[in-house]
Amino acid sequence: MKCEIIAVGTELLLGNIVNSNARYLSERLAELGIDVFYHTTVGDNMSRLQEVIQIALQRSDIIIATGGLGPTDDDITKEGVAEALGLKLVAHQESLDKIEDYFRKANRPMPDCNRKQGFIPEGSRVLENNNGTAPGILTEKNGKAVILLPGPPKEMTLMFEQLVYPYFKARSEHLIKSKTLRVVGVGESAIQERLQHIFDIQSNPTVAPYAKDGEVHLRITAKCHNDIEADNLLKDMEKQVQSILGENIYGYDEESLEYVVYQLLRSKKLTVSIAESCTGGLISSRLTNVSGVSEVLMNAIVTYSNQAKMKFLNVKEETLLKHGAVSAETAQEMALGIRIASNTDVGISVTGIAGPNGGTAEKPVGLFYIGLAIGDKVEAHRLCFPASREKVRWNAATSALDILRRELL
Ligand code: ATP
Repeated sequence: MKCEIIAVGTELLLGNIVNSNARYLSERLAELGIDVFYHTTVGDNMSRLQEVIQIALQRSDIIIATGGLGPTDDDITKEGVAEALGLKLVAHQESLDKIEDYFRKANRPMPDCNRKQGFIPEGSRVLENNNGTAPGILTEKNGKAVILLPGPPKEMTLMFEQLVYPYFKARSEHLIKSKTLRVVGVGESAIQERLQHIFDIQSNPTVAPYAKDGEVHLRITAKCHNDIEADNLLKDMEKQVQSILGENIYGYDEESLEYVVYQLLRSKKLTVSIAESCTGGLISSRLTNVSGVSEVLMNAIVTYSNQAKMKFLNVKEETLLKHGAVSAETAQEMALGIRIASNTDVGISVTGIAGPNGGTAEKPVGLFYIGLAIGDKVEAHRLCFPASREKVRWNAATSALDILRRELL
């Protein structure tokens, strides 16, 4: 099955937004074994929209368009597709009721133009929007499927996962199963090098690396006729990758690094406290994304100034004067200080130079120390990732969580 993705929106052509919808859809469709041969982007212009739909209808079996389903005059995707397919737009009462209900619940009067969202090309199936007002549309005609999804990524992905993915899966001759291995502590190019022999010969299952913030996800996808065959293929490939990357693989599928750290602390019945400097609360913010973390996280504090480090963490003035705030010695005293002050099993700290200013030859921007106090042991790790302020902070938080994870393993 050949598929074409059409992104509708003048904002995309102007470069105001990135076409992340196409990236997401391509990734998911590949997992289903659907070939995406074209990405097209078109502005909110009726004649050009119809032109790209006509072209897509000639060369593809499936067309997925995103955006332009809203209530305003420049939202023309549905109208353009109906016209190109030679279908009339008809009222869909259930959708109209739902849109009215949405405004009633939001306690806002419904603008008249929103009624337009309750009209669909005749004979189409409505894809319910559980995250907004614009329903999606699925039209099948002459062996082709045309699917219209809303533009906002959160609405689009939810609709795709809940309704479109199952639609394709049910029609697929193959069973597609995938598993994501989440890797931290090795960069994308190092992974490329170490797994090159696998990448070179892969066909089924395939292994695709995706660089994420400070980590890499390896998606293994198997295409088979039954579940057992798929599971075996995935297991074999996972074993091969595992033997190369070992403990750098921290989790699977949707498990975040912070979730894995939480699970490890919980299983070992350990409590943790955190003292942050350059990350400004990022480590604790990431950990508190995990529901239930209050079982293991007792206390977190941001000590930005030297005074705060001395007052709240008992860091010695002498240490700060002799070694500086960004040093292994300070990181260690911070970790021990927060562990003792919070009466926890583990204390973790971070101090570094996020930049863009403040770096020296000896202590450049991107340098940070992670302190770890666990039982009687106190240690510090020196890492350096020169990058933007945002990236340095994110990498420092990731490293702190990863160092804690490895220690707990
Ligand atoms: P709405 O009902 O919110 O108007 P819509 O289906 O009409 O939704 P658009 O108005 O085209 O969608 O886009 C709404 C927003 O969705 C855009 O401002 C943009 O932030 C985001 N968006 C649209 N298309 C894309 C895309 N291809 N990739 C990423 N984001 C997109």
